[in-house]
Amino acid sequence: EKVLLSVQDLKRHFDIGNGETLKAVDGISFDIVKGETFGLVGESGCGKSTAGRTILGLYNRTEGKVLFEDKNVHEMSSKERTGYLKKMQMIFQDPYASLNPRSTVFEIIAEPMEIHKLYKKEELKSRVYELLEDVGLNKDHANRYPHEFSGGQRQRIGIARALALDPEFIIADEPISALDVSVQAQVVKLLQRLQKEKNLTYLFIAHDLSMVKYISDRIGVMYLGHMVELTTSNQLYDEPLHPYTQALLSAIPIPDPDIEESRERILLQGELPSPINPPSGCVFRTRCAHAMSICTDKKPVWKEQEAGHFVACHLYN
Ligand code: SF4
Ligand code: MG
Repeated sequence: EKVLLSVQDLKRHFDIGNGETLKAVDGISFDIVKGETFGLVGESGCGKSTAGRTILGLYNRTEGKVLFEDKNVHEMSSKERTGYLKKMQMIFQDPYASLNPRSTVFEIIAEPMEIHKLYKKEELKSRVYELLEDVGLNKDHANRYPHEFSGGQRQRIGIARALALDPEFIIADEPISALDVSVQAQVVKLLQRLQKEKNLTYLFIAHDLSMVKYISDRIGVMYLGHMVELTTSNQLYDEPLHPYTQALLSAIPIPDPDIEESRERILLQGELPSPINPPSGCVFRTRCAHAMSICTDKKPVWKEQEAGHFVACHLYN
């Protein structure tokens, strides 16, 4: 198993004036192996999108590092960086906002290839048509505009654009959250098919565990800028260790009534605290039903509880 991307104690803080700092990402570590789908899950505001953008190099890091194929993403020469940004692509939550409304589908998909001067005119044309077919559209769609498409079709256009440079790695930032449930499954299936066909590695960002569980090989759970648990998708589902993961899982409706009985809904107390003034000790303690006095005084360490299953919680120290 080859590690493609290694995130090591990564921090991204934002200076927001008045001497205050927003600690959007505050020390997360994980590796992503070539060909896998790594799910990054947490409520909105937990820092998962910021993590995605920092990994891509769109944001500088405050501390720690991101290695892609053993190269430090934030210390690349401009030539290395151009190569990196070809290999790494992003799919966004709202395809409508990320597609230029005044460009045709053809122009939208062709643009990255034109910027990198990859093809001559005729080649470019057949390449765009090929990409449209890859995502379940066809060349008749090429001269139309984004507003003429449904949400699911727009996401397909966004995916075709992301594939244009033949990437190795795709960061999908809540790519299905804005879509109807029936369309969500179609887009997930498409992403899975493309992964197989094109040997892609995914970082799949999501705000709950319902779909991400089916698409991910491993999942990292984030809370308030911290990673609180990381393990395989099956393990996380069968044996969640962190109280926050347990609460997230309890919120997923389960079709099997026998299982539903054994998993009681855990309601989180209170609101998500501000990352400007996070709680001392364990960042989750203000909402945790198991909080003890040590949770106020001491930050729990990130610990490998069993092979490949990491958790940061005093219950396991
Ligand atoms: Fe709850 Fe304490 Fe564990 Fe934090 S460290 S999740 S407050 S038990
Ligand atoms: Mg987000």
